[in-house]
This record gives sequence, C-alpha cells and structure tokens, in this order.
Amino acid sequence: MSSGSLSIQPSIAFDWTTCCVCGAIVVIEQNQMHKLRVSGKDFYCPNGHVLAFDPEGSKEKKLERELNATKLRLTTLQQERDYQQREKEKAERKLRRILKNGVCPCCHRSFVNVKFHMEVKHKDYLTKLMQS
Ligand SMILES: [Zn+2]
Ligand SMILES: [Zn+2]
Repeated sequence: MSSGSLSIQPSIAFDWTTCCVCGAIVVIEQNQMHKLRVSGKDFYCPNGHVLAFDPEGSKEKKLERELNATKLRLTTLQQERDYQQREKEKAERKLRRILKNGVCPCCHRSFVNVKFHMEVKHKDYLTKLMQS
C-alpha cells in the first residue's frame, strides 16, 4: 500500500491597482477589491499611502452617465423629427383634401382651380400650410 499527501490550493483571484502617489502596485483579492470599488473605502499602498476608489466618479460610471445622456438626446431628436414629419404629412393631407374638394378653406366657396385661387387670394395661408 502506498500513501501520500495532496494539497489542494483554493484558487483565489486577485485584482491590482497602482498607488496614485508612489506608483506601487497594490494587489487585493478580487471580492475585496470589488467591495472597495463600490464602497469607496480607504485602503493602503505598501508604502502606507491612503488610497480610495471614487465610487461615483469612477470612469465606468461616468462613461455610463454620458452614454445615457447621449441616448436621451438622440431619443429627443428622433421624437422631434417624428413630430415634424407627422405635422408635414398632416399639412400635405389637408392640402390634398382642399384641392380634391375644390373648396377654399378660407372663403368656403368652390373653385374650378382652388389652388390658383388660393395662390392669388390666400398666399399666406397656403405658405403657412406648406411650411407647417
Ligand atoms: Zn504609495
Ligand atoms: Zn378663398
């Protein structure tokens, strides 16, 4: 019979960061590092400098905030464009209806060529309708 010993090393993951004062590498177990990042609590570099992550001002969070702001701006622009497009279509539909009916929307009379009549008599109205 034979015997021996076997040692199993638990695998531990480490993260590292550098001291912003002296540049020393600070190695900390991953979970601990995560806690430090989230909480912004103080820790020490090997040379005794006090370090801390800035949980709110961290780069990732800042980028995320900027990204969200950009997304919001884009959505607003998109909505604005959609709105303008809808208004334009509405105006076009209205104009088409007027021309089809041959009835002037201002003086409510029928004309053979209502567009010509409007161009002559209600140019402002027509321009406004086309622009809106
Ligand atoms: Zn240091
Ligand atoms: Zn008219």
